Order: sequence, then structure tokens, then C-alpha cells
Amino acid sequence: AALYRIDGWGAPYFSVNSSGNVTVRPHGSGTMDHQEIDLLKVVKKASDPKSSGGLELPLPLIIRFPDVLKNRLESIQSAFNCAVESQGYGSHYQGVYPVKCNQDRFVVEDIVKFGSSFRFGLEAGSKPELLLAMSCLCKGSSESLLICNGFKDAEYISLALIARKLSLNSVIVLEQEEELDSVIDMSRKLGVLPVVGVRAKLRTKHSGHFGSTSGEKGKFGLTTTQIVRVVKKLEKYGMLDCLQLLHFHIGSQIPSTALLADGVVEAAQIYCELVRLGASMKVMDIGGGLGIDYDGSKSTDSDVSVGYTLEEYAAAVVQAVKFVCDRKSVRHPVICSESGRAIVSHHSILIFEAVSRSKYRVPTLSSFDVHQFGEQLPEEAHSDYHNLSQSAIRGDYESCLAYADQLKQRCVEKFKDGCLDIEQLAGVDGLCDLVGKAIGASDPVSTYHINLSVFTSIPDFWGIGQLFPILPIHRLEEYPSNKGVLSDLTCDSDGKIDRFIGGESSLPLHELEGENGMKYYLGMFLGGAYEEALGGVHNLFGGPSLIRVSQSDGPHGFAVTRAVAGPSCSDVLRVMQHEPEVMFETLKHRIEEYVDDEGGMAGGIAESFHNMPYLTVGSSCCLTAANGMMKN
Ligand code: PLP
Repeated sequence: AALYRIDGWGAPYFSVNSSGNVTVRPHGSGTMDHQEIDLLKVVKKASDPKSSGGLELPLPLIIRFPDVLKNRLESIQSAFNCAVESQGYGSHYQGVYPVKCNQDRFVVEDIVKFGSSFRFGLEAGSKPELLLAMSCLCKGSSESLLICNGFKDAEYISLALIARKLSLNSVIVLEQEEELDSVIDMSRKLGVLPVVGVRAKLRTKHSGHFGSTSGEKGKFGLTTTQIVRVVKKLEKYGMLDCLQLLHFHIGSQIPSTALLADGVVEAAQIYCELVRLGASMKVMDIGGGLGIDYDGSKSTDSDVSVGYTLEEYAAAVVQAVKFVCDRKSVRHPVICSESGRAIVSHHSILIFEAVSRSKYRVPTLSSFDVHQFGEQLPEEAHSDYHNLSQSAIRGDYESCLAYADQLKQRCVEKFKDGCLDIEQLAGVDGLCDLVGKAIGASDPVSTYHINLSVFTSIPDFWGIGQLFPILPIHRLEEYPSNKGVLSDLTCDSDGKIDRFIGGESSLPLHELEGENGMKYYLGMFLGGAYEEALGGVHNLFGGPSLIRVSQSDGPHGFAVTRAVAGPSCSDVLRVMQHEPEVMFETLKHRIEEYVDDEGGMAGGIAESFHNMPYLTVGSSCCLTAANGMMKN
């Protein structure tokens, strides 16, 4: 487990049991009365056709733990409650979940349900997100905030205003100055008084990947000049009372509390100025940015780590707001945060299988007739070969490598000229690999082929180099004897994972042939935020199968409460406007025209349309069953 730093990034939810399997404690550590869930048992129940009562879902598979969501929400709330209480802060914390981090219906519904007692709300950044937030919040507390961010047209604004009529606590946050005219116009037409916020473009800038959001040149928000103009216009229309919230977001993964406090202090000054100018300010919305320690290093100078705990984050925010407001004698605002990553990252695990491993066999010395080999080489290569042999005899390894390289380059040139045959070139390649291996300079990293699409399931790795903890979910009592990189199913050279947490360029991995021919399952952790919505259908791979797992008193300590097979080939074909039924008919007619279909080719093709696009490593009947379940 130490090899994969699980104690660093996994606590309090993930650890390894005495059988060497990853375990999940969905309620976090402080609850010893809850049994740990063995992840391998969950995967087998979900996917193994031999498992009794199994669901026979094909991999890849996302396993969601709603109890983790509950624990994350409660932990954030309690961190702020503690900070509020210990610092004598005069108001309270009331967070919202930015649905863009994971819009899955059950994730959003769970968050609304679990957060209802502390008025936890939602944040939307587009019309469909607003629609889903409105409908989900109908089941929550009417005091919960519904923060309306993002680019807005008249339709978006009217939806946000209608939400107020429905007794939802919507706040239209101006991201562009022009939105104000539309807000004034629509509110008059609909006869609804809006609650308005402004998003401030702060000068405080975070230096990591996500820092481009902030600073004067950031994409979003209003400058001080624009904020002043908004105040004047609202005043002119007798609507300054409507301005009640100040929002800012300096970027995701804020690395340190020092930077956080800097941003909050700047925003709090703006907040106090808005109070001075006569706005009815009530809420300070500090945006997202509460980070995740993906590599467990607690470092403040990396995009994949953060140097604070939840408690330290909350304390820094409360202290900074209190400090500024006290100096200006301004009543303490409600503090709202839009933490997304910090709420949903831990709750889902992506499980996939390594199906094969490329083993490059380096030829042995005995397979070379060293003398004859040299003679067969083209004349121009003789001196390189001679120099290589001499430096090998002298034990001069550096020269050996240099001459081997020279020999190889010369022979490639000769091959391109048509003066070397393919067996000779293969011989030269083999000899160079042998030299590399003999002097310990060759790269012993294997390629493990995984039944997954990086573009669909880990798009942030491909797009922005985001690293996630990846490790085998079993056999962790056994030392992994290989080093590997992961290569996915897509026909794209970017479809590989060759950088891992801790700055590693390979992952410690086991031989694939486990006990009793057991499959080799890997898990990608902390990927519950952003990955599912960002993933595309490159090569027409669709999303994974999905299950929700809760703790139960049963023999294994868990119950699967929902299971959905991933999209079939038909489903992904439809995404690109194809019509699977018509395609099948075309192919069926072709079969009737050309072949005698006793072998059931048409049936096979029909089955392929129904199955998932991933490799069918198990038996195909399991796929049929899973798809049957999906249709039910
Ligand atoms: N709020 C806004 C306006 C954002 O742009 C984002 C993401 O970038 C978030 C909230 C969520 O941020 P995070 O996931 O870092 O909490």
C-alpha cells in the first residue's frame, strides 16, 4: 500500500485489508461500528458471471458511494461550524454544490437530501443545469441558495426569476455587465424582484493551472469600474436593495491558505464597499477552489496537492472575512462556498481491467553468431560494430551505448536505401536491446493494455495532465514485480497513462496471471468530479457501467442499490446521428444476398449492436443479461 501512497490520499475512506484488497469506509474513520467494504467483493458482485446473485455488468465500472458524499458534506459543514463558533463569527456558513462537477441525477439528489438540514444549496452555470437544480431543490430546504452563474441570456434570467416565484432562493450573479439590463427588463416583465449578486474579478491570482480564472485578465467577473457602474444603475432603477451577494472564484485547487486568505480579504473589502454604497449585502460567496490532495504529499506548489485540511481552509476563510468586516464595522455576512471537487471527488471509483501485457523479449546472446553477424552487416557499419565489440570487451559501458546507437542509426539508413533486409535490421535492433539490457540501461517498463478509454473516463489526464491515484484493488499483499504504463483501447497515441502521482513515470504492477486465473482489476480514485461530464466518445467508446453501493448489515457489509450498464454500441452510434436499426437491416440484407447464414451471422451482429463497445473479456451472454437489465 505504501508504494501507492494510499495513506496519504486515501484517508479516511480508503485503505488496504489483510487480504491485500482495497477497502472503503464510506462514513470516514470515526465510525468503527461500520464494517469496511472490500472493493474486490463489490467488483465481483457487479461484474463476475460466476458470482452468485451477481449483476453481470461489463467493465469498466463506476462505483458510487453515496455515504461518502454525505460524509464530505457533513465534514465541510462541521469545519465551518467549528470556525464560526471558535472565532465568534456573527453569521453562519451555507454552502452550495456546483452541479457542473457531476450532474448525475442521483449525485445531485443525494447532495440536496443530505444537505437539507443545513440548508445546503446548488449552483448552476447553464440553462440545463439551472433546470435540474430548480427541480432538485424543490425537494430540499426553501432557504437553500440557488446560485445562478455563467453566461446568461433572457431565457436563463427568466428561469432564475421564475425560480423565485416558486419560492426557491435563486440569486442571479452578474458575470457580464450587460446581463444587468436583461435582469432589470425581465424582472419588470415578470413582476418578480430579483436577488442579484456580482462576480468580482479579483487581483489576487493563483499561480497553478487553474489560476487563469483569476487576476485582472481572467475570463470571468466584473472589474471594479464595472461593479461601480452596476451599483449606479441599480440605484437609478430603485433596485439597489436587490444587490445582496458578492461572488468570486480564484480557481480550482487553491494551493495554500495564504493565497486563499489573500483572495478572501480582497473580496471582503469589496463586500464592505458595496455595503457602504447602499447595497443590502447579505452573502459572501467565495466560489470553489477547496482542493484535493491527489498525491497525498500536502504540498503547496503542485496542481495535484494542497497544503491544508478542511478545518484549516474554513478557519482561514472565516478569519479573513471577520477581520475585514470588523475593521469596517460591517455586519458579518453569511459565508457561502461553491466547493465541487471537495464534495464529489472521493465518492466514486473507476474500476477497469488490465487485459494483457506487452512483453518485449530481448534476444539472448546465444542467439547471435557474433562473428558471422558482423560480417553480414554492410561495410559502412563494420567499424561501428567493431568499436561496439571492443568497448564491450573493455567494459566501457558508455561507449558501448554510443556505438550501439550509431550502428543502429546507420543500419536504419541502409534499410531505407534498400541495402539491408528486414531480418538484418531486426538482428541489429535485437543486438542493441541486448547491449542495453546487459549494461542495465534498457527500460524494463511493460505496457499493460487496459479495457478503458482515457478520453471517455479520464479526460482531465489527457486534456490538462491531471493525475489521479491509480492502483490494483487487490493482490496488495504481494510485491508487484513489474513496472508498467497503461495503454487504453483507443487508436490514439494520447490514449495512454504514463505519468502517475509522486512524479512517477510507471506504476508498480503485478504479473497478470493471478491465482486461479483471476482478472487483474485496477481502480482510479478521487475522480468523482468533472470526469464524467467532460468525457467524450472518441473512437465511439461510451461511459462505464455504474453502480451505487451502500453499507448494509448483510454478510459482505454492502448492498448494491442501483445498477446501470454503460451505453451500448447502438447508443454511442446514435450520438453521432447513425441509426442502428437501419444499419442492422442493411447488414442483414447483405448477409441474405451473399451468404448462407446458418452460422447465425445476423444474430452475432445484432448482439454486437446491443453490447458495450469495450472488449468482451468475459462471455458474451453476460453482456446480453446486462443490457436486458438496462432496458428493464
Ligand atoms: N464555482 C465556479 C464559478 C467555478 O468556476 C468552479 C470551478 O472551476 C467551481 C465553483 C468549483 O470549483 P471546485 O471544484 O474547485 O470546488
